[in-house]
Amino acid sequence: METQREYLARLGLAKPGTRGRFSLAAKAELERARLSGMTFSDSTKAVPKKAAKTPKTTNTEEGEFDSLIPDESPVEYPKIPEKPKLRNIGRVIGYTAEGNKVASDICLSCAHHVNVCSCSGGIEVSPIVATIDPESEPYCKPLANSILV
Ligand SMILES: [Zn+2]
Repeated sequence: METQREYLARLGLAKPGTRGRFSLAAKAELERARLSGMTFSDSTKAVPKKAAKTPKTTNTEEGEFDSLIPDESPVEYPKIPEKPKLRNIGRVIGYTAEGNKVASDICLSCAHHVNVCSCSGGIEVSPIVATIDPESEPYCKPLANSILV
């Protein structure tokens, strides 16, 4: 029976007759080889340790390796709660000092859609907006310059 190093050297993944740690690629290959049923004369990892704890696992070699195969059940990721919709305006409308219409669906402060923005004081509009459309105004943060006017 081969040692792990002899096996890796045969594949060109380790230098024969040396000492030291194996590379990541070498370790991965060892793991792959073990899973495919290969054993090494110097195997340091006690394979059936887990099997002894699990009553389901049989004592056959096949059963021992079954416990090493990752469970194929799909991983369930926690769901990120959706931000509650606070309003249904779709966008806010404003006008620049030159009178050009500006529409935005994103709050400048929190970068969330205006329908879900929960900024205290309201949706922050772009600094290029000089006046907010009366329809959007109740939802928006008062413009800094409008206080000064
Ligand atoms: Zn916001």
